[in-house]
Amino acid sequence: MLALIMGKCRLCLKDKKLIKAHIIPEFMYSGMKSEDDKNIFFEVTYDLDTNKSKPKKVQTGEFDKNILCSDCDNRILGSNYERYAQKSMYGKGLNPEIAPICKNYKNPNDGAEYSICTNIDYGKMKLFLLSILWRASITDRKLFKEVSLGKKHEEIIRKMLYEGIIPEELEYPILMTSFMRTDNSLKNLIGQPKRIKYQNGVNGYVFLIDSIQFMFFVNSINHKMPEYVTRTIMKKSGEMTILHLPNGKELEFLKAILNK
Ligand SMILES: [Zn+2]
Repeated sequence: MLALIMGKCRLCLKDKKLIKAHIIPEFMYSGMKSEDDKNIFFEVTYDLDTNKSKPKKVQTGEFDKNILCSDCDNRILGSNYERYAQKSMYGKGLNPEIAPICKNYKNPNDGAEYSICTNIDYGKMKLFLLSILWRASITDRKLFKEVSLGKKHEEIIRKMLYEGIIPEELEYPILMTSFMRTDNSLKNLIGQPKRIKYQNGVNGYVFLIDSIQFMFFVNSINHKMPEYVTRTIMKKSGEMTILHLPNGKELEFLKAILNK
């Protein structure tokens, strides 16, 4: 018989059998498996002070068997949010009706390239991404050791996820930048999530998952956000801007918007 651990589920707060829950859903790493070993991913750590990045092999299967019951993992987080993200953005066999429609642009002044995507289900996508941040915060797994939202924000986000409360646009805004156009696209890499302080004094976290960098702002809703944030974050209208970082500018860009 399988030994199942009983414990308090961190989402529904009930005493339940807990299951093996992934921190970052497996489908997000679909392009990240190396050829020779299906279970090894590469992790990159970047050092903003020295401009160096060093990839290293990590075991995947970052899961935690102490945080979620099966109902919360499968039904609440899985069916409500993850299924949408998977069907609209990841893997094969996307459903074109719900897939984002993206157009590419280039700023004639500085040559910056970006995509504006529409047809995004704001509530589902935002809660999906926040669920990753939240899981990373409640787990004790080493890879996520820098992610700690604190009791107040953990509880606010838990409630949003559990009750399906859709956050405002400026509540925990998320920016996405991509490395798809750079020579080193950082494809097949997962970065150890980093705690950062943005220029406006707001704290946040950066997750690098397969060429896309997700930048979370952990703010109170009244904290004023800079214009580049309000312009590009995911909107209730279903629109979102993804900046494509130009070649060689990856670290410069990070430094410019971070408190470095
Ligand atoms: Zn539960």
